[in-house]
Amino acid sequence: MAYMFVRIQRLLLLCSCRYNRSSDQSTLLEDRVVTISRAQGTLTFPANFMLVAAANPCPCGYYGDPVKECTCSLGTVLRYQKRISGPLLDRIDIHIEVPRVDYEKLAGDRLGESSAKIRERVEKARERQRRRFGGTGLQCNGDMGPSEVRQHCGIDATGRSLLKAAMQQMQLSARAFHRILKLARTIADLAECEQIETPHLAEAIQYRPRRMV
Ligand SMILES: [Zn+2]
Repeated sequence: MAYMFVRIQRLLLLCSCRYNRSSDQSTLLEDRVVTISRAQGTLTFPANFMLVAAANPCPCGYYGDPVKECTCSLGTVLRYQKRISGPLLDRIDIHIEVPRVDYEKLAGDRLGESSAKIRERVEKARERQRRRFGGTGLQCNGDMGPSEVRQHCGIDATGRSLLKAAMQQMQLSARAFHRILKLARTIADLAECEQIETPHLAEAIQYRPRRMV
């Protein structure tokens, strides 16, 4: 929905407080501080936040839906999807398409994993990360810079060739390379694995953004 796109853009514009350069919206996600410059002086505030956003694939909301046909023209879909810039999308680590849910699943008795159980797994993974970064000032995998990525995100030969193929086929940036490794490290932590294994890496790669058109 267009409304959601506008809200995301406004949030980022508001945070960056610089209205003339779209790249500032994306660097804000990495800098974790926001600088406000006025004639009287410059102030820097902390802006370390997690961005969670949702959007429809097109204005009518049905592009790619297997049941209901999308009524938008291809140009409209393209224009709509390009409203979020590539550099901004590149800095969002996990992109997931959420398809329509069948009636049978909605009405069925089968319940998913409970939030309490998921929380337990997340807390264990966080504890593992706290131990990993003890005394370094870093809190979690997301805080790692390139040198920590090199130190803690080693992958074997199969993983290296998988990542190389993904970099070439998906034309990934250097930023995406590090983000994939950090995410793979977190997936391995959730699975309670010391080493990043190929399935962890493959899962991290498939979360990279791709235009639907
Ligand atoms: Zn549509």
